[in-house]
Amino acid sequence: MITVIETIEEMQAYSARARRDGKRIALVPTMGALHEGHLTLMREAKQRADLVVASIFVNPTQFGPHEDFSNYPREKESDCQKAKNAGVDAIFYPAPTEMYPDGYATYIHVEGITAKLCGLTRPGHFKGVATVVAKLLNIVKPDIAVFGQKDAQQVLVLKRMVQDLNMDVKIAVLPIQRHDDGLALSSRNQYLSADERKAALVLSRSLNLAKQAVENGMRDIAQLQDKVRAEIVSEPLANIDYIEIYSYPALQEIKVLNGSALLALAVKIGQTRLIDNLILEA
Ligand code: AMP
Repeated sequence: MITVIETIEEMQAYSARARRDGKRIALVPTMGALHEGHLTLMREAKQRADLVVASIFVNPTQFGPHEDFSNYPREKESDCQKAKNAGVDAIFYPAPTEMYPDGYATYIHVEGITAKLCGLTRPGHFKGVATVVAKLLNIVKPDIAVFGQKDAQQVLVLKRMVQDLNMDVKIAVLPIQRHDDGLALSSRNQYLSADERKAALVLSRSLNLAKQAVENGMRDIAQLQDKVRAEIVSEPLANIDYIEIYSYPALQEIKVLNGSALLALAVKIGQTRLIDNLILEA
């Protein structure tokens, strides 16, 4: 049995009952169109808590005006079935007006790390993400919230927010789930045509080239970036949004790899913007 809850009041009451019963609650926030990446988070959440709440909410405030908010896949029935099979106890499925009623005026801005990578190329994106996740944490009041490393910068932003605002929740992060051929699972992969699906392999392929180069001793950040760029521009359907390497987890600019660094990519394949990343270790 899976409970589908559409109002904030009911969600709060459901969580309050679970807490009174002494249950440890995990929250898995998603935008739906669930794939194995999401389901892995849900199964792992079930290992770490007594009760798993997954939210499915295509959050309008994290999309830019020319982005895919209205086209974003919405698959309520099959999502509920998949979540149920993954061990989810309740789905929180609010309407946009439930989360942002008339007069809504409060947003969370995490400074610093939001000024680069996706924060630069998707202005306002992390303000929307931080705000909606803060709201979900307030509504569900989970003990633990589970996220994917696929959105590496998002995880850093949310950890910063939780620490800075003294939110009493543990953030768990799970590795990127990939198809056998390397493409990172994403709800947006379903936008890709057959040719674009093949072209999209250039993201994981270029990350692997950088990894190999580091294993072979390359430490110069500009050289590593050039290597990744050369691979991506060789793919005619690909258009680079950004290729960046920053120290990890601080996301400071570096010239030489020394310790851990985040290699993050955003690449448009046709009209579809895909992201992928890898932690490089010197
Ligand atoms: P989304 O529905 O895209 O907002 O993603 C919801 C959660 O699933 C986020 O924490 C993502 O990082 C995570 N996620 C999405 N794709 C993957 C993947 N391929 N591997 C692991 N986690 C993922």
